Amino acid sequence: MMNYNINNIEIVKGYTYLGVNISSNGKFSSHKDNLKAKTRRSIFATRKYLDFSKLSINTINKLFEALFLPILLYCSEVWSINDRDDLNSWEKDSIEKTHAYFCKLVLGVNKRSPNAGSRNELGRVPIRQAIDANLLKFWSYLENKTEESIAYQCLVMSKELNSDGKHGLLGKVNNLIKFYNLDPSQIMKNKHTLKTMLPDIKTVMRTKLEDHQKTLIQTNRKLAFYSKFKKDTNPSENLNLIKISEHKRQLVKLRLGNHTLRIETGRHTIPRTPEHLRICKHCNQNKIEDEKHFMLDCDLYINERQKLFEKIKNKFSHFTHLDENQKILFLFNSIDPLVSKATAAFIHFSMNSRKTN
Ligand SMILES: [Zn+2]
Repeated sequence: MMNYNINNIEIVKGYTYLGVNISSNGKFSSHKDNLKAKTRRSIFATRKYLDFSKLSINTINKLFEALFLPILLYCSEVWSINDRDDLNSWEKDSIEKTHAYFCKLVLGVNKRSPNAGSRNELGRVPIRQAIDANLLKFWSYLENKTEESIAYQCLVMSKELNSDGKHGLLGKVNNLIKFYNLDPSQIMKNKHTLKTMLPDIKTVMRTKLEDHQKTLIQTNRKLAFYSKFKKDTNPSENLNLIKISEHKRQLVKLRLGNHTLRIETGRHTIPRTPEHLRICKHCNQNKIEDEKHFMLDCDLYINERQKLFEKIKNKFSHFTHLDENQKILFLFNSIDPLVSKATAAFIHFSMNSRKTN
């Protein structure tokens, strides 16, 4: 207990004010855990009425931005001040993990599926753009307050902290300017009308986040196959063409390395099986069972593959003359409904026959 005037004040570890969990240690991890739990509950409640697997990518993204993001980022203008700017740390943050969790759920892949690939299929990147843009907007809002307002007085305190070399809102604004390579003089000059600059700032932010995501994809061994055909961060529109949910799910699982081919299961044996020993057990070719072997070579799926290639050849006669890599690019990037549907159906059927062999 401590005393203030004649009142006894209880000393507590945390206090909730306007929906924000304030901890005595000054950290916001319990608040973030709370946001994570609330967002998950909301996702589950929505899922009761809505089959996510039937929705287009565009609708999924709108749903996330309108329903779940506002819960997940509640009061981010305050808690994000303490977040580190580097994106690899951010990937481990419970807020970003909840974002990735949503992406995996709507795609129907499990938690072993890489976060970067799962976001990428939906054309999504880490949600830092919304967080950081909100923080800059909040700062500009405080700058516009009258000097006698409490909010402005807080800003003055933050400026003092900053000039003392201590971290606060102003420190964070400066960090963001550096991190996104923004022009500090332009930002300071326009601090009262920052809203008008925000669309351009958001574009710069998105580019930085896209580059980060592309690097993650190129360097993740699980996504070695994916990185061969997916070079951008745009939504994978071909997924929208597949109407049978289970076919779509099997296709996405193969694309994201979230399957049971030996190239993947060999990663989880104890001890870990070296890549060159993850040999296919379903044919006698003595080849590594990876996605390419499954799609183009393995004898187990020879009949089904013939049917697939025949269908495609009838519409796209040049397909037969493509080399292996070009065939993969064609099958996985085509936005032709026949190609997308037939490829997904092949994967679905072949994965099932693999299970029983
Ligand atoms: Zn094989």
